Amino acid sequence: MSALLEVTDISVSHGKVLAVQGVCLQVKPGAIATVIGPNGAGKTTLLNALMGLLPCSGGMRLEGRDITGDGVEERVEQGLCLVAEKRELFGEMSVADNLLLGAYSRRRVRDGSREEDLGDVYDRFPRLRERRNQLAGTLSGGERQMLAIARALMARPKLLMLDEPSLGLAPLIVREVFAIVRSLRDAGVSILIVEQNARAALQVADHGYVLEAGSIVMEGPAADLAADRRLIETYLGFGGKPGETPEAAARAGTTVQ
Ligand code: ATP
Repeated sequence: MSALLEVTDISVSHGKVLAVQGVCLQVKPGAIATVIGPNGAGKTTLLNALMGLLPCSGGMRLEGRDITGDGVEERVEQGLCLVAEKRELFGEMSVADNLLLGAYSRRRVRDGSREEDLGDVYDRFPRLRERRNQLAGTLSGGERQMLAIARALMARPKLLMLDEPSLGLAPLIVREVFAIVRSLRDAGVSILIVEQNARAALQVADHGYVLEAGSIVMEGPAADLAADRRLIETYLGFGGKPGETPEAAARAGTTVQ
């Protein structure tokens, strides 16, 4: 099966800091790929470069078409959509208006498709339907994450890119968000998730990449990565040092919830 997104040898610098170095990855159509890695590994930088928000070297193809030289707007038109870590909602606007803004590029199309998509999104996120007239700024953290994902879906993306969807959410809500992510994949949406919460991401993903200090150090089927001893010790379990308690490992920053 040919890749929906194919990234070849991407490198990104912040001034003198080489934050992403020679990254190659693929997302297959209708699949979830994940890039996991600790704080500062370069996950956000990588997504921003894929979205065209940061200059980079290397190549990118979407459905076989070279998008390397395209700007952000062209990439959005081509079907890329990024749900940023900060979720970037319009707090002073209602849930419904935030959702309609997601379909902004189709604002002049008067065929009822935006309203139809809004109905579909509300069917998938019943809590957003209940709160459709509430200001986005008054939603809970989990509801905000759902609104950010729902708004992205209103753009009918070919590839939905999620930057740390679990960030700041309680474990129960993380499970809810990831269940939605899985249901989107089952409905045919292709997804790329970057996550520090390796356990949650590997549970929903088909394929995984491990990013460390800007480089991919491991990749494989998500189930294989979740069962890999080194990965368990580094990201999924604790410490790796004999005799180290989970608390000590957490203080040392070796665990990922
Ligand atoms: P986190 O999970 O903490 O968000 P991350 O894996 O997303 O981390 P990035 O935010 O991509 O990592 O950062 C990668 C590296 O690039 C870090 O060393 C960071 O300090 C550096 N960096 C990120 N943004 C900038 C910037 N605007 N200017 C300079 N350095 C930056």
